[in-house]
Amino acid sequence: MAAIEMKNIVKQYGDGFPAVNDVSIDVEDGEFLILVGPSGCGKSTLLRMIVGLEDITEGDMLIGGKKVNDLAPRDRNLSMVFQNYALYPHLTVYENIAFPLRLAGKSDSEVDEKVREASKTLELDEHLERKPGNLSGGQRQRVAMGRAIVRDAEAFLFDEPLSNLDAKLRGQMRTEISRLQKRLGITTVYVTHDQTEAMTLGDRVAVLKRGVLQQHATPRELYENP
Ligand code: ADP
Ligand code: ADP
Repeated sequence: MAAIEMKNIVKQYGDGFPAVNDVSIDVEDGEFLILVGPSGCGKSTLLRMIVGLEDITEGDMLIGGKKVNDLAPRDRNLSMVFQNYALYPHLTVYENIAFPLRLAGKSDSEVDEKVREASKTLELDEHLERKPGNLSGGQRQRVAMGRAIVRDAEAFLFDEPLSNLDAKLRGQMRTEISRLQKRLGITTVYVTHDQTEAMTLGDRVAVLKRGVLQQHATPRELYENP
């Protein structure tokens, strides 16, 4: 069973052109899928339907075999990593990572164990007492991912996380995200309009145009058969 199954997904806003038109994509367990296409092609809409933030007009969206619309928001165990990482500036790295666990009412010892484990994996253990404002972009990204892994999220969802960065930093972050994703082995869907990102980051790339899936293949296949 695929981790995420999109079956003939349609999204219609009002009575215009469908924003997403009959899209079917399976994302395998541990796979890094890129959704790429020009502005307005429906990438964010599709991502929001995966997380359950947007109603699905037609079709089925299955997460771990369950329809996303049947899951209560608290049971939708997916972590969205935003462009600005949505970290709490007044909280330490430790407390930022701990936040979802505190929210879930976990005991201090459980929180501590999970935060330590995550921060080791993410090489943040030296920085637990710092505030996000004193961290590099890469470190901030790792804190955001730390928050996702402490709650054992079933998938990471990225919506253009690097689009505000300069070219150099973007390149570094791309490498870092790719390395972490492989190490954690967590299913990932990553939205971008950047071709280079699409061709260098993902295991597979889904190309959207005006809401329609044009191609769904590995970067190598796309390169050889554009
Ligand atoms: P992308 O992420 O690829 O830039 P979007 O998913 O944001 O594309 O948008 C796809 C299409 O749906 C666009 O034509 C956009 O204008 C339209 N759209 C997106 N959100 C809404 C909304 N809340 N209401 C109406 N139309 C929307
Ligand atoms: P370290 O330098 O190893 O991060 P600290 O001095 O920051 O150690 O923390 C000491 C102990 O307190 C550790 O067990 C750590 O997990 C825990 N801890 C650190 N920060 C917090 C915090 N904000 N809230 C609760 N426990 C914390």
